[in-house]
Amino acid sequence: MDTVYDTTIVGAGAAGLMCAHRLAERGARVLLLDRNDRVGKKLSVTGNGQGNVSNTDLSKEHYFGSALETVSAVLERYGQPWLMNELAALGGLFAADGAGRIYPTSRQASSVTDLFRFSLQNSTAEQRLGEAVLSARCDRNVFRVRTDKGEYAARTLVLACGGKASPHLGADGSGYALAGSFGHTVTPLSPSLVRLRADAAAVRGLKGVRCGCTAVLVRPNGKEGSVFANTMTRGDVLFTESGVSGDAIFRISAFARAGDAVAIDFLPDSGAADVLAALRAKAERYPQMRAEDLLRGIVHSAIGRAVLRRCNIALEEDAARAVQKLPLLVHVLKFFTVEITGTDGFANAQVTKGGVDMRELTENLESKKVRGLFVVGELCDVDGECGGYNLQWAFSSGACAAEAIGERLCGSTT
Ligand SMILES: Cc1cc2nc3c(=O)[nH]c(=O)nc-3n(C[C@H](O)[C@H](O)[C@H](O)COP(=O)(O)OP(=O)(O)OC[C@H]3O[C@@H](n4cnc5c(N)ncnc54)[C@H](O)[C@@H]3O)c2cc1C
Repeated sequence: MDTVYDTTIVGAGAAGLMCAHRLAERGARVLLLDRNDRVGKKLSVTGNGQGNVSNTDLSKEHYFGSALETVSAVLERYGQPWLMNELAALGGLFAADGAGRIYPTSRQASSVTDLFRFSLQNSTAEQRLGEAVLSARCDRNVFRVRTDKGEYAARTLVLACGGKASPHLGADGSGYALAGSFGHTVTPLSPSLVRLRADAAAVRGLKGVRCGCTAVLVRPNGKEGSVFANTMTRGDVLFTESGVSGDAIFRISAFARAGDAVAIDFLPDSGAADVLAALRAKAERYPQMRAEDLLRGIVHSAIGRAVLRRCNIALEEDAARAVQKLPLLVHVLKFFTVEITGTDGFANAQVTKGGVDMRELTENLESKKVRGLFVVGELCDVDGECGGYNLQWAFSSGACAAEAIGERLCGSTT
């Protein structure tokens, strides 16, 4: 007779690792499967390699999805303080930066993966890496999972397969088909936290420039275009050779489509009237000053040149002449539009918007369709803002499922 595990977990990312660790701590017989030949491949590169695992400002307001009440309930139980305790118990030390983003003090994302690696190596959990799960079914209360190397049986099944963002790190969207084979609905999928491609002329001369600003999506609508609801965001914009990136852009990226424009306010802390008065005073004081120098000390010099180009003001034009065009200049400084031609797609996105419809899951993330089946992490239709919210969700949801499974298996709580 084949071994029947207590739980098979498909996916050794943040969600699957947390779930496996919590269940193994309770002595459950866990099988952790991943197609990658090592655990936490994505986790190890997060946050530019520094691992932004959570945020001090945690609430459902930072998430999108079909069942934010469930997200809220999970975060209530397994939120940021809980996660910090859990990771500290595993031997990690974490601290928040000035913006509330929480990182390991090592500033190495791979060290977060190591915490789980060490814990699992010293536990009863079995890992089978380098095995891709091809299908799964439930047969008389036993889940049978078929991989490219074998078949495994378990009393419960956790799908922690991630979404389809950055597939080179393992999650290629196959989790949706696995969930679908149990009758689950998948909401529309789109790449999120992704760079936007732009018209080359709009970003000419700006490659490598980063600025703190506000950005908003503008959708063509008649002559003027209209601001796309709820997309106003503040943060960094980084200009690249082919578009725009940075956390402000990431936040609006899931809503952007070709034909939209991003409107950037380079001076979000100064009103238009104050900027105009400052530029007028400077032009009066130095009437011979080159237009390019008028903007020095106000915006990055490359931004200054791009703004002047937009206003058809020659860089060497003297301030006395440019003065009539200052209202236009101020308008462009505060509403610099960059036409979007598309996104960098799933291949380069950090997360997937959409996923397994969470209205089909209980508050414990168990399927309402198949008892004993759990769906966690990015595979669910939950996506968070940039800033640690996606890893927090992955860890919280993995722990939540582990608790429910543990209670069922052992009849006790940890
Ligand atoms: C470059 C980058 C940087 C990021 N930075 C941050 C950050 O700083 N902070 C933050 O909060 N979020 C960040 N994110 C997002 C965050 O990493 C993810 O949302 C989170 O890791 C999702 O965890 P998960 O466990 O649900 O899925 P994943 O981490 O994607 O893990 C899923 C696992 O399942 C395995 N798998 C999938 N299908 C199968 C199958 N059929 N058979 C076997 N194995 C399978 C995959 O190989 C993978 O290892 C970043 C993402 C990227 C790409």
